[in-house]
Amino acid sequence: MKEYDVVIVGAGPAGCQCARELAKENIKVILIEKQKEIGEPNFSTAGTPEETIKVFGLPEEVAPYVCDKFYFKSLNLEKIFTLKKYRSYVIDFRKMRQWLASEVSKNGGEISVSTTAKDLVIENGKTVGVRYQGLISSGVIKAKVIIDATGIAGILSKDLQIFDSTKTIQTLETEFEMTNLTLPIKNALYFYMGNEFLPNGYAWIFPLSDNIVKIGFAKVLKDNESTYNLEIGLKKFIESIPWLNKSQPLEFHISSFPYNHTNNCVRDNYIVIGSAAGHLNPLAGEGIRHALYSGKFAAQVVNEALTNNDTSAKKLSKFNNLWKDYSKDNWKMCRAIAYQMYNNTSTDKTDKLLKSLQKFSGDEIYDIFFNYNFEPYLAKVIGSLSLSEIKKIKDIF
Ligand SMILES: Cc1cc2nc3c(=O)[nH]c(=O)nc-3n(C[C@H](O)[C@H](O)[C@H](O)COP(=O)(O)OP(=O)(O)OC[C@H]3O[C@@H](n4cnc5c(N)ncnc54)[C@H](O)[C@@H]3O)c2cc1C
Repeated sequence: MKEYDVVIVGAGPAGCQCARELAKENIKVILIEKQKEIGEPNFSTAGTPEETIKVFGLPEEVAPYVCDKFYFKSLNLEKIFTLKKYRSYVIDFRKMRQWLASEVSKNGGEISVSTTAKDLVIENGKTVGVRYQGLISSGVIKAKVIIDATGIAGILSKDLQIFDSTKTIQTLETEFEMTNLTLPIKNALYFYMGNEFLPNGYAWIFPLSDNIVKIGFAKVLKDNESTYNLEIGLKKFIESIPWLNKSQPLEFHISSFPYNHTNNCVRDNYIVIGSAAGHLNPLAGEGIRHALYSGKFAAQVVNEALTNNDTSAKKLSKFNNLWKDYSKDNWKMCRAIAYQMYNNTSTDKTDKLLKSLQKFSGDEIYDIFFNYNFEPYLAKVIGSLSLSEIKKIKDIF
């Protein structure tokens, strides 16, 4: 049986970043991944603010496309916002995870692919390891701390009932990577809002280069709505955009994301991080930056806990505090705005919303979209909301 200080399950941004930082501190860490190749499946559109690139030192090859514009379209209006102060990036999601994993091994961490965690090993009421299934063998990896970074699978945290499922917002996401096209506006992130594009959600086009784009749909599932054929909807959307007429698919991905929230991500010897912990912002589904921070905070707390030889839930609960400070109250606001925004995406409402947004500068849109800074701008969008919507949003402050 193998024994480590820390076993991290899942080589997404959260797990990789956590392993990268722990390995740097000479902690004996193993990162296990169920896929046979790190970086698969390449499901994320991976638009991100400049902060992600700077704070986590991502090289150019990982974040190849820099944007200084937002393009917004509702049925009857369109607007290009130009950024002055800020930049956003489109990450190559596959390369990013491969690069982070190479940092883990460079720092002395161990990586095991084709290794699927099955469940937690509990001895005398304490979590002491992970049972895994490999390609040809199975077994147990013991560790002082177990970190669940399995994304929406939340494979280990499921049994611990970390979330209140009545408060979950269930969404569907799908994405095509397309080539053979000419971008009408270069260096822009494109957003499409309204029922004509996608009811109860939004569509986006994020370029990876001037001739490859990722085109996606994200939709909130309404009560009792169990299926919606996103693939057909997305194909129709692509057909409706003239400059995508000749484009051809390189990849297709589909997934279902629950938006959850919990104040407690720790148990004795155990932390859940990244989107498995609900560290995914519901405003536009941004999760990569937050997964990286989640991994970073977990590494900091686990390092301290191991140094003090105390990996109890009490000691690890510092992770909850770090996350609370990071997400502050404006994540609550994101949740409320997302709910209002995606609850009704009628033409009238989305036209009105875009009309209100036209009053903003590009940097202000960025401030709302990536910094979740709403309060200074609320007055400018009030006109696009109904009285009851305004009341609900105001109640949050
Ligand atoms: C279509 C789509 C578009 C998106 N676009 C954006 C965007 O533009 N910008 C943005 O910031 N975010 C975006 N996101 C969200 C973002 O990709 C996620 O929030 C982020 O990847 C979460 O990182 P993570 O490390 O927590 O989990 P993940 O990236 O999901 O990684 C989890 C890892 O765990 C592995 N795993 C799962 N179960 C097991 C197991 N039992 N044993 C071993 N390994 C296991 C998985 O294979 C995976 O590698 C998008 C998501 C989707 C679905």
